Amino acid sequence: MTTTASVDLTIRDISTGAARGSTCSTALLDAPWDVDAGPSTYGPGASQADPIPGAVPRQGGIPERYRQASREELDRRIRAAKAELGDRVVVLGHFYQRDEVVQYADYVGDSFQLANAAKARREAEAIIFCGVHFMAETADLLSGPEQAVILPNLAAGCSMADMADIDQVEECWEQLIEVYADELGGTDGPGAADGAGAADADDVLAPVIPVTYMNSSAAIKGFVGRHGGIVCTSSNAATVLEWAFARGRRVLFFPDQHLGRNTAKAMGIPLEQMPMWNPRSPLGGNDAQTLRDARVVLWHGFCSVHKRFTTAQIDKARAEHPGVRVIVHPECPMPVVDAADEAGSTDYIRKAIEAAEEPTTFAIGTEINLVQRLAAQHPQHTIFCLDPVVCPCSTMYRIHPGYLAWALESLLEGEVINRITVGPDVADPARLALERMLAAKPGTDRTGATRAATGTSADAARA
Ligand code: SF4
Repeated sequence: MTTTASVDLTIRDISTGAARGSTCSTALLDAPWDVDAGPSTYGPGASQADPIPGAVPRQGGIPERYRQASREELDRRIRAAKAELGDRVVVLGHFYQRDEVVQYADYVGDSFQLANAAKARREAEAIIFCGVHFMAETADLLSGPEQAVILPNLAAGCSMADMADIDQVEECWEQLIEVYADELGGTDGPGAADGAGAADADDVLAPVIPVTYMNSSAAIKGFVGRHGGIVCTSSNAATVLEWAFARGRRVLFFPDQHLGRNTAKAMGIPLEQMPMWNPRSPLGGNDAQTLRDARVVLWHGFCSVHKRFTTAQIDKARAEHPGVRVIVHPECPMPVVDAADEAGSTDYIRKAIEAAEEPTTFAIGTEINLVQRLAAQHPQHTIFCLDPVVCPCSTMYRIHPGYLAWALESLLEGEVINRITVGPDVADPARLALERMLAAKPGTDRTGATRAATGTSADAARA
């Protein structure tokens, strides 16, 4: 069942005047197929103002019977189809997904937890991922070849993932190889053919190691895998950076500048050694010496949900709720992370609230669907979102129960709609980058030896 505090109900109550507050778009109550019928956009919500790349997938129309069905009819159809399909299907729901969809999920979690849940359900011939495009790609990478991963609405992309386009990343890499040519022994020298990320001897550091956040396309994960790099999550970013620095002098981190900056800063890297790479400018808008002096080159990407949080919101929460515990996601801008009491992944936030024994007031800086669900699940605590405006992740919001009913009933009719597949040329190196992440351990150098704790690991504070 949906919780009484579901974001959809909150938005409806605000729009009818039954509740106080504001939303970031009056179009949040429109049916997503109305948005799908218009020009390609991320739809109403936090990413609505972000430019959408031309090549992102679009969702065609879905049958009238799903567009016209009432909530009650969709509920009945979804439950009936799931019951009939049984173990043939597994439904995954991301933490940021609306309650009206999450209520049907067999597993709820962050993107990597859900991809692993898919991996554990080998008997399921179909995995319906109620998240966004890169998450469905990751599930396809980790699931069996005979399993179909379905994204109920193809327009559910991720604006942050879309900010790192593979052509722009390839172009960036070529320019960095030029800048670091001396360290490579020239652009024709050792390591140049495989890219700067391929260290050619155990005791030689590569000029730069590419690191991508899980929130990136499979093409970017494949790029990273091909060039000696690695994937990270918001839970293990510091461990992954340690892994990378054991192999290279610098890191190229994408797509999220904030996760990269917050993590590297917690490891003691000065801000002046973290230049930003703007893909629309030569050398990313930097001079060559700045790039040579860099320790972490940050891609100019961000999450429009987490960019909304401000230090003024934290000041207000502290003034109005003395003793409040402020926890924010590391995708928030650095001043917000610095002003908070703690920063951590969605899983960290969830566990921190679960572990609080005394009634506590929490001000949370992450997506509103998760915050309101946590508030409903923990009535002994006072839990609220730092952002006073109700503004969900617009891409996650593109999944509506109508699309889930369509995907499930199509399976009953023997049809797989909206299958997400990653070709082997991308999948093999992308899996390699994911395997490197799984093998990376805190304080472990490239020989596998465990170093003494240095106190610089941001993961230790955030795991
Ligand atoms: S919350 Fe941000 S990073 Fe997560 S799916 Fe939405 S846009 Fe992408």
